[in-house]
Amino acid sequence: MFENLSERLSGVLDRLTRQGALSEDDVKTALREVRVALLEADVSLPVAREFIKKVQDQATGQSVTKSVTPGQQVVKIVHDALVDTLTGEGDPGALKIDNPPAPILMVGLQGSGKTTTTAKLAKRLKERDGKRVLMASLDVNRPAAMEQLEILGRQIGVDTLPIVKGEDPVAIAKRAKTQASLGGYDVYMLDTAGRLHIDQELIAQAAAVRDVANPRETLLVVDGLTGQDAVNVAEEFDDKIGVSGVVLTRMDGDGRGGAALSMRAVTGKPIRFVGLGEKMDALETFEPERIAGRILGMGDIVSLVEKAQETIEAEQAERMMKRFQKGQFNMNDLKMQLEQMQKMGGMEGVMGMMPGMGKMAKQMETAGIDDKVLVRQIALIQSMTKKERANPKLLQASRKKRIAKGAGLEVSELNKLLKMQRQMGDMMKKMGKMGKGGMLKQAMK
Ligand code: GDP
Repeated sequence: MFENLSERLSGVLDRLTRQGALSEDDVKTALREVRVALLEADVSLPVAREFIKKVQDQATGQSVTKSVTPGQQVVKIVHDALVDTLTGEGDPGALKIDNPPAPILMVGLQGSGKTTTTAKLAKRLKERDGKRVLMASLDVNRPAAMEQLEILGRQIGVDTLPIVKGEDPVAIAKRAKTQASLGGYDVYMLDTAGRLHIDQELIAQAAAVRDVANPRETLLVVDGLTGQDAVNVAEEFDDKIGVSGVVLTRMDGDGRGGAALSMRAVTGKPIRFVGLGEKMDALETFEPERIAGRILGMGDIVSLVEKAQETIEAEQAERMMKRFQKGQFNMNDLKMQLEQMQKMGGMEGVMGMMPGMGKMAKQMETAGIDDKVLVRQIALIQSMTKKERANPKLLQASRKKRIAKGAGLEVSELNKLLKMQRQMGDMMKKMGKMGKGGMLKQAMK
């Protein structure tokens, strides 16, 4: 699936020029293709537009990591943005099934794979989570559907509610609830009737069942091959019934998988599972990384770029080590450290990782140095001239005033920063002397 996008991208990205940073033109050229490809993959126009904007902002001006091409870098950025868009909150595979018996309502159009998915999920709950599951078909319009669920149930060793002719869906739901309570089941799944299209009756029926069952999860099953239609269906169901998640089926097919992206972006509903075939174990927890990788079909490039970035950081660390060993620690070094700290989750995160720095972290805390301070400190350093950064000893009263003013801060803050630079310099020197494989290197990993 998603072939269009990766093919398109690999064509255009190879043509990008090799430069130090991604130029606006580079990014624009690449993103034009991404946009067309997204639309061809049936991603809705507003979603594609918003996605492109996000990537554009992130990519322009970003420095290109040595040893990868700008094209490869763009792929990585697009990949990360895809993951970001596709990611919902929490673990998509974790169903709310505490308080037994927990009802799960399955809704969707006819032929979407609802009954199959009901059984697949039941099997998963039984085998992975050790739950006792009861399944009930509420599809009174199609007796074959009820039998289908019964057959699947036997196949996977999961009980189904006995079929009683002439009962309406609400009555079946009530009976399932009673049976689940009496029978000591952890979960009961209600497989509602589907239609070829959404209509009043379908919605009314599902809503009535919802009202008696009070489901912990309402999972909408949609055919991942239907693209934009799937998104419309999802919006409608969510609007009328309220869904807690989406299961995309037929993701094993080679269809235009843009549905996953639109679905998430338009409905805001998390994709919880994907169906990957007709067999009972062809159901997987939705993994944004995996889908994004498939959309791009360029997983190797993504890991290549990640590797290259790691290497660069390691090289940087090595260079710094050498300087520290010589007792050199100027404002450029401090700035790099501060930025590194920001990246690694602030003061506490970094200090926690550095043996022997615990005490210093405490001191910083008492001195009121927190992560907002990091931002101000970096601003102060940015307000210095090149010469001053390289040699902070130059900083006499008038220079200090100018720098503080430039950063919109008080001189006293600059003094604190200078003190910190001296202290850290001393410490780095000591640590540097402890050898190449020493603490600093450990800490910078
Ligand atoms: P329902 O009408 O929504 O209950 O749909 P069914 O569960 O009866 O499924 C319709 C058809 O789609 C069946 O032949 C299923 O085997 C098939 N199906 C369901 N899920 C998947 C899937 O993830 N991949 C593939 N390839 N087929 C599926």
